[in-house]
Amino acid sequence: MGNCYIPLALKLYQKTLEKIFDYDWCGLNFYYYLKPHVRRGELLNSNKSNHNVLGILAKYVFREFIYPLDFDPYPGEKCIETCDIDKLKGDELIWHLEFIVGMIKHHANYATDNMASICKHLNRIDDIFGTPEAYISTRQGKRKFTSIYSKVIRDYTKSVIMANENNYCNFVVDRIFLDRQLCHYIAELIKDIGLYGGYNEPPSNWIKRCNIPKKIKSALYKRENQECAICKIPLSLSEMTLDHIIPLSKGGHNDLVNLQCVCNICNQKKSDKLASPESSISSFMSHIHYYKKKP
Ligand SMILES: [Zn+2]
Repeated sequence: MGNCYIPLALKLYQKTLEKIFDYDWCGLNFYYYLKPHVRRGELLNSNKSNHNVLGILAKYVFREFIYPLDFDPYPGEKCIETCDIDKLKGDELIWHLEFIVGMIKHHANYATDNMASICKHLNRIDDIFGTPEAYISTRQGKRKFTSIYSKVIRDYTKSVIMANENNYCNFVVDRIFLDRQLCHYIAELIKDIGLYGGYNEPPSNWIKRCNIPKKIKSALYKRENQECAICKIPLSLSEMTLDHIIPLSKGGHNDLVNLQCVCNICNQKKSDKLASPESSISSFMSHIHYYKKKP
């Protein structure tokens, strides 16, 4: 893992939050990206670690806003392809290369990648930036530019980007998952942008109650500090029951962001009612005060 993993992961985390709280972002593309996964019932039962709403959201934001080369928001299709360089001209070409170089400088895993080779290419690229822009437009300039560009793309970009995409997604999932209220917000957002089903397909037609895998249960149990998320009584793993925060009948879905672990009594009391989840921040945190200096 490169030493810039944390700053870049934080950047993606921030971008993800910025996106989902953006008033102008309707999230419709994200909805199209997410919907097939929900339809196939993959969210909780996939073996892929990031096949949940948060992982899919992080991947979506990464591909749409962080590394947007030819991103196709519809899954199952090609996702990251190299850009067709012939379509780019002059400044666009330079900007594009600059972006790629920036990514490589940030993402190169200096411990394992061949540094001598990376430096050689970066130096050649620096040379290009040092040449007058008009040179890039000449045939010779373009040929030189294209050959370095292709080499860089072929050797580094894909592996570097893909490896980091997974790291980022894990980071985003881990961070958001711990915040139950933020999870609830995302579950509401998804309901609002459309997983509710649209007019001619009520969600009950295609979102079915499913068996929740053991690893999901124990992750939730740990997050709730081994307590009921509602009444806070201590629970053993076998006593806990899972509760859909937004009930399936009201447009909720089967995913980590929409689940909490509660005691049997609270689960029965709640039944199909909507309730805002309590914060998952431990109660001892509420005793921490920030003391203001007296003037
Ligand atoms: Zn309870």
